[in-house]
Amino acid sequence: MDELFSADNLKWRDKAREIAEDVVRPLAAKYDRLQEYPWEIRDALKEAELFGVWIPKEYGGHGGGVMDLCLVVEELSKACGGVGVLFAVNALGSFPILVAGTEEQKKHYLPQIAHGEKLIAFGLSERPAGSDASGLVTNAHEDGDSWVINGQKKWTTNGGAADIYSVFAVTDPNSRSRRISALIVEKGDPGFSIGRKEDKMGIRCVPVVELHFDDCRIPKDRVLGGRPGLGFKHAMMTLDRARPGVAAQALGLAAGALELATVYATQRKQFGQAISGFQMIQQLLADMATNVEAGRQLTYAAARACDTGAEGITKLAAMSKLFCTDMAMKVTTDAVQVFGGYGYMKDYPIEKYMRDAKITQIYEGTNQVQRLVIARNLIKEAGRLDHLSAFIPLPDHENTIADQERAASAAGA
Ligand SMILES: Cc1cc2nc3c(=O)[nH]c(=O)nc-3n(C[C@H](O)[C@H](O)[C@H](O)COP(=O)(O)OP(=O)(O)OC[C@H]3O[C@@H](n4cnc5c(N)ncnc54)[C@H](O)[C@@H]3O)c2cc1C
Repeated sequence: MDELFSADNLKWRDKAREIAEDVVRPLAAKYDRLQEYPWEIRDALKEAELFGVWIPKEYGGHGGGVMDLCLVVEELSKACGGVGVLFAVNALGSFPILVAGTEEQKKHYLPQIAHGEKLIAFGLSERPAGSDASGLVTNAHEDGDSWVINGQKKWTTNGGAADIYSVFAVTDPNSRSRRISALIVEKGDPGFSIGRKEDKMGIRCVPVVELHFDDCRIPKDRVLGGRPGLGFKHAMMTLDRARPGVAAQALGLAAGALELATVYATQRKQFGQAISGFQMIQQLLADMATNVEAGRQLTYAAARACDTGAEGITKLAAMSKLFCTDMAMKVTTDAVQVFGGYGYMKDYPIEKYMRDAKITQIYEGTNQVQRLVIARNLIKEAGRLDHLSAFIPLPDHENTIADQERAASAAGA
């Protein structure tokens, strides 16, 4: 497999693997219990220069892309799914600037993120606007040299820890296609505050909070790309690039759970032998490993498509997210099964994988929404397959292929 990667891909993957084993794994249970941001892990990631992997060199990064992001997230998530998202959410927050920011915005914000000096978050969802993100109601209006924002965001990952926020707000309520804009909000902007912090099932080391905007005033040049109205398009372009990162988080969780389950199965003895000797345990492990590998290939394919600008990244990104996150839920649940009753206990590391995996099926678009995205794109592409219509009998079709063959044979052809 390694021969498919560039030297840089392998360098960042190996660095992430080292941090995951030396720093993240020993601290994972502690921060899961405390539900506090693990600044010592952030410091290790910063020192290893990992925050620059998806950012171009001209903006202070290492010039990699979604592939390097996915390789790092996979390795971190093998040790802790919370740390996987703690890292990946900075890509989610910075992709709007990367894909749509003005040159000044890119030069100002991206180097700070690439160097790990500032963390960033992505505020799209609201109480009334979850799967239907376009239904958001937080609004912003121009006032002299400023934008004034009012409203609340729900479930902003990294909120509170982050210094920079990509925030989506209605700027033209009367427009159908140009209703929403992306704005860059900074910690300390007047009228901006952090609201309630959620108590979560999994990914407990990373904060998920409400953002409150009460006449929050920001300079006019903080509208993304320098002009309003393109926010929803920018949000969708961001999600296309970020969803392989969620796939990588799920993949890492599944791969990490498989490793733990395999080792446990070779050590735990029942009926006088290691449980890895029982065929039903072997079947579980074999199915887990096969699904992990299938997810890995799909994730890398989606990441490569994003980096090369290939056609169809929306569908492929949604497929990678859908497959890997459903797969991770199944694999982590089966891993708990391999551990038996001990797997159900917090004294053992495996139940955390199952809790951390669940959110991957929900955020950045639930898996129902991914299926909608995939199906819509499939149907849109069906036009390319028009030549097949001639071979498909339809119930109301008077002249099917079989009819034609019968007619030809009756005519003695
Ligand atoms: C821990 C956590 C972290 C998050 N982090 C962020 C973040 O950093 N930034 C951010 O902007 N958002 C974030 N979110 C929000 C997340 O993206 C939303 O929760 C998600 O998009 C679903 O929205 P909802 O929770 O309102 O569910 P709803 O939209 O209310 O959906 C409820 C159920 O209905 C289903 N459903 C809805 N519409 C359809 C449909 N058309 N067809 C079929 N089924 C449908 C859904 O799949 C789901 O099963 C986070 C959420 C959580 C829980």
